[in-house]
Amino acid sequence: MNKVGTVYLVGAGPGDPELLTLRAVRLIERAELVVHDGLVDPAVLAMARRDAKLVSVAKSRARHTLPQGEINALLVREALAGRDVIRLKGGDPFVFGRGGEEAEACRAAGVRVEIVPGVTSALGAAAAAQIALTHRDAASVVSFVAGQCKGLSEQNWAGLAGKGRTLVIYMGVKTAAQIAEKLMEDGLAPEMPLAVIENACRPDMRVLRAPLAGLPELVEQGRVRSPALIIIGEVTAREDAVVGRFAAEFAQ
Ligand code: SAH
Repeated sequence: MNKVGTVYLVGAGPGDPELLTLRAVRLIERAELVVHDGLVDPAVLAMARRDAKLVSVAKSRARHTLPQGEINALLVREALAGRDVIRLKGGDPFVFGRGGEEAEACRAAGVRVEIVPGVTSALGAAAAAQIALTHRDAASVVSFVAGQCKGLSEQNWAGLAGKGRTLVIYMGVKTAAQIAEKLMEDGLAPEMPLAVIENACRPDMRVLRAPLAGLPELVEQGRVRSPALIIIGEVTAREDAVVGRFAAEFAQ
């Protein structure tokens, strides 16, 4: 009987290879086949063996190189052919990474799946920008939402941002203006401080700050590009939230 390979859904973290788990490093170093998306840092891919096969299924908001169904089919096909597959994803596979769909497809085909968690970009960005997502004096709740994805207007964010709460928005660059509007319609104060963190945990990281009402201008004038996160809440404006050495302040 044919050996069936295992699919490893591996979190590659936000960029810096130092933030990989030991399990991720071991799997990448011994991999024969790595299927990765566009967010995986080249420095992480460089850890694979020289003879490893690297397959990019890079996705961007406007352009899907490979539709999700085909990615699922690729993983299953390779595993059924007897190969172990390292499926490398930026951040954590189960945080806005479609890891759930890929794991389901594998299980449905009788393929074994292992999930290796990664540092999700919200945690990496917060650490690099020295923003404590929770803080006894400022926030006891933190939420992660997607600013693009299925119908922004249908998403109910009421109560996720505000006093004592921190909201982290993934994939929110393109829809920054609608996001600001939506939150203010929900009753959030226009003065609520926020930080936009671009290329977190990479040498070209930037941290930009503004009040909520200034988010659209901040993104436009600061020429913010994906990947970037928006962190909204009082924790972003604490005196001790000093930015790292790569950071630049956007002058209001
Ligand atoms: N699974 C990933 C998220 C994938 S969705 C994770 O756990 O981080 C893609 C979004 O993640 C991007 O649009 C951006 O909002 C965020 N992101 C990923 N890497 C990032 C980085 N290095 N800096 C800032 N944001 C990042």
